[in-house]
Amino acid sequence: MTRAFNFSAGPATLPESVLRQAQAEMLDWHGSGASIVEMSHRGAEFMSVAAEAEADLRRLLDIPDDYAVLFLSGGATTQQALIPLNFASPGQRADYVVSGHWGKTAVKQAGVYVDVNIAASSEPDGYRTLPPRADWQLSPDAAYVHITANETIHGVEFRDVPDTGDVPLVADFSSSIASEPLDVRRYGVIYAGAQKNLGPVGVSVVIIRRDLLERVGQPRAEILDYRAHVKGESMLNTPPTWNWYLAGLVFKWMLAEGGVSEFARRNGRKSGLLYDLIDRSGGFYRNDVAVAARSRMNVPFFLHDDALDALFLAQAREAGLISLKGHRVLGGMRASIYNAMPEAGVQALAAFMVDFQQRHG
Ligand code: PMP
Repeated sequence: MTRAFNFSAGPATLPESVLRQAQAEMLDWHGSGASIVEMSHRGAEFMSVAAEAEADLRRLLDIPDDYAVLFLSGGATTQQALIPLNFASPGQRADYVVSGHWGKTAVKQAGVYVDVNIAASSEPDGYRTLPPRADWQLSPDAAYVHITANETIHGVEFRDVPDTGDVPLVADFSSSIASEPLDVRRYGVIYAGAQKNLGPVGVSVVIIRRDLLERVGQPRAEILDYRAHVKGESMLNTPPTWNWYLAGLVFKWMLAEGGVSEFARRNGRKSGLLYDLIDRSGGFYRNDVAVAARSRMNVPFFLHDDALDALFLAQAREAGLISLKGHRVLGGMRASIYNAMPEAGVQALAAFMVDFQQRHG
């Protein structure tokens, strides 16, 4: 068996050791005689898995006690709808800063419930920059300000936490959570679909400052109510146990590897290697994002001649480098290099890109 280096944007590559452990435990979890995926979520076995996963995530991200942590079924898009339902009153204003495709998705989900104010958008420049904080048109009465910490398609990432005063900052961290130290206290809500940096698709992590749970919000069923989920310890209904378990293994792996500070160093080196190579390629490769806004997680790039795209992808695949095709919104290529992408994978990609340029430049 050979595993390729997989640059998929999500569902994304997982640590090989985690997959091996899940494989070893698949039929008989810890001598229980059954797979963890076959057990009741309320049994002692799964309850211990769930509690450990939360404790490990709290340690990994240094999450203070006055923040609740939820593991909910479904993706980040669902949270984008639940956030206005839970934290804004009907028709109240909410500020959205749009720095790429997923910020727009968040606006679309929220627009049904709140009066969305686009406080700033970098759409006019094709999402190649971040809207400067000084230009944001924030509303004084906004329920919250929403940003996308890392735009997975456009490869644009906030490198500083914007100051929003007393208005809670809500951030979609789907594609950059746990990639570097995070000052949780600067945020009201942090949410992330797991399928990039935390584990398999099907579970989302939501981190909520507890005082926000006192907000009345909008009429909603209990199953759409964060407060009820906190009270029910993310087990109001049957949770995605397998996904939660696998995410827990990923948290343990990240802690054992040295935690988020170590991943910040690795991610800096990995993305630095690719951007350097692209910038020094004399125009053969191109990344259009302003240097200060470039993502450390998703590196979109273009070949100088798109007639070479298919050949690039085919030869990359032969070299054991897969899922490099860019999102259809942008075209070109994209290398997603989350925590679980080893440095050796990025080095192999860099070597391939240099060689490809020599042969076709
Ligand atoms: N936000 C970001 C930043 C994303 O990258 C994605 C998915 N790629 C989403 C939201 C939507 O997530 P989901 O498909 O899990 O709903």
